[in-house]
Amino acid sequence: MLIFTKDFNCCKTVICENFGVSESDTYIKKSERLGYLSTECTLCGSNPPWINNELVKKVLAEKLQLNFGQKIVGCKKCSPTFFITATPPSKLHGFTSAGTQRKKCTHCGAVFTLPDFKSTDALKIVLASLMAKKEIKNAIKESGLSARLYYFYLNKLALILSNFSRINEQKILQREYLGMHSEGRLVSLSHQRGLYVLFTAEIESGYILLQTNNLTKHQFADKFIYHETKNTLASNIDSDNLEEILLARYQNNLKRNHFEQVIVGDLKPIVKCNAIYPDKVAYVHFQLLKAFTEGVQQYEHYIEHESTLRAAALMSSFSSIKNATANIYFFLPFVGSNQNLKGKPIGWWNDIWFSNEVGAFCPVTCKLKGSPSFSLHTGDAIENFYRYINNNMNKNCNSMQVIDNLSEIYRVIYNYCVIEKDQSAASRLGITDHVYQTEALLEEALQQIKGE
Ligand SMILES: [Zn+2]
Ligand SMILES: [Zn+2]
Repeated sequence: MLIFTKDFNCCKTVICENFGVSESDTYIKKSERLGYLSTECTLCGSNPPWINNELVKKVLAEKLQLNFGQKIVGCKKCSPTFFITATPPSKLHGFTSAGTQRKKCTHCGAVFTLPDFKSTDALKIVLASLMAKKEIKNAIKESGLSARLYYFYLNKLALILSNFSRINEQKILQREYLGMHSEGRLVSLSHQRGLYVLFTAEIESGYILLQTNNLTKHQFADKFIYHETKNTLASNIDSDNLEEILLARYQNNLKRNHFEQVIVGDLKPIVKCNAIYPDKVAYVHFQLLKAFTEGVQQYEHYIEHESTLRAAALMSSFSSIKNATANIYFFLPFVGSNQNLKGKPIGWWNDIWFSNEVGAFCPVTCKLKGSPSFSLHTGDAIENFYRYINNNMNKNCNSMQVIDNLSEIYRVIYNYCVIEKDQSAASRLGITDHVYQTEALLEEALQQIKGE
């Protein structure tokens, strides 16, 4: 059974006895020694910033529901979310008076009605308007639907495609090995609105498994709500020398108040929701990834070279790391370097860096010697999806629900319909043998949901 981490205020030094230990006499809680609130570990001398556990817990529950909880198939009593609990089989159980198929759960006996999508034409119209990148106002006008109905079907479309993709993704949950690659990006909208999003792809196929943005419906104390103008993101300097680029990134980090302080510049608020800080998004996102890693025997996680992501990824994986079933690496995508790093210590902590044809790597949780071979051979999966989202996302969106719906629809279409070398990411991942046009994908999703 999947258990999410509840207490993030612990030591995050992998070689320290206190690593991942939440209660210890050797901590000084809420220490202010370094000018920010931290959990001081007196064993290793580290001062990881204090994390508001309650905030992470609330947003985690919200994003869990959004990503895995919106099931329209199977018995929701026995299995309210995808992946976390297995859905027991169900049997056909007659029809409702309106003629909709009913099913009975073989485990708990609950009878439920299958979703009924009579207006597939409306779904197709909405899908076509998204693919044509129409402005929402025009799309609504041309669709012949009222605005209310247009958004109703947009929401349905997101549900159907999301359910389809999660059903398919169940095929990878028991694999021997899973390699993941995660990076954060700023998705800019018009009028200086925008969102910080974390993306995770499977490394062989580039299939996008999960995306988590910094929007929430929850209300938190003002100091936990994002309103900043600075930008502390580490960026690459213009150079073909990997070592120089990495050193500059470490320098960027040292300018922060603390290493997990990720600020992405001025973002105007989106209506009827709040934005939280990117570091909290990282804690939430990496916890959610447990849904994918819980059942695999061994996994590796390649994360953006960013201290916040390191801490959050470690907090998601510390028991697997202790059991030697997971490893985490920093990864910096970079093609065309004139350098080959072979275990070179770089930066403030003397991190050991290697490089291959797609970028630079640094083991975070293990020691490597000589010329290690890395499983990651395509470094641009996140960048490709980010470009796709940026190209397609309606920049005038000003609603969290519409942003979430569009993001999920684009994730599924990108995975199943965007072709590279005759294959989609989903076919490269081995969870479908089809390459779909968008309308055929919708048909298939509807059929599959009916069959579940
Ligand atoms: Zn420690
Ligand atoms: Zn049941």
